[in-house]
Amino acid sequence: MELKPAQDLAETLLKTHGLSHWQVRFDHARARCGSCNFDRQEITLSKHFVALNDAQELRLTVLHEIAHALVGPANGHNQRWQKVAFDIGATGQTTNTSAQMPKHRWGIQCQCCTAIVGRRHRRSLKLHWMRCGVCGTASAKLRWIALN
Ligand SMILES: [Zn+2]
Ligand SMILES: [Zn+2]
Repeated sequence: MELKPAQDLAETLLKTHGLSHWQVRFDHARARCGSCNFDRQEITLSKHFVALNDAQELRLTVLHEIAHALVGPANGHNQRWQKVAFDIGATGQTTNTSAQMPKHRWGIQCQCCTAIVGRRHRRSLKLHWMRCGVCGTASAKLRWIALN
């Protein structure tokens, strides 16, 4: 969906649950749908997530974050959080498994057997602990390749 209706929906939900002083912001996260920033009293939503999903998925994600906002940072995804999440209509799941998320941009390829041994949203240099599961080659022969 578009950003503007997404923002409106998120703000309406915040207001409904007594959090009208909280802000809604968008970020570029690729691996998660939303997050809750207690210090800044804001909920951030991934632009990629918003673009790829409908209002129902957005609603579930915003309610998940609202449950965090209501129980506070010390509770994480514990039982107290889960109860509040259920009560306000979220799924109570740690991650939104029904949401569409962007495909991984980077693959880690074994130069010996050409197998793709991993996929990541972001390229990092930390390959030393990895090993090709197909031919057993160690990290020195693994390299990043761009996926499309
Ligand atoms: Zn969460
Ligand atoms: Zn290999």
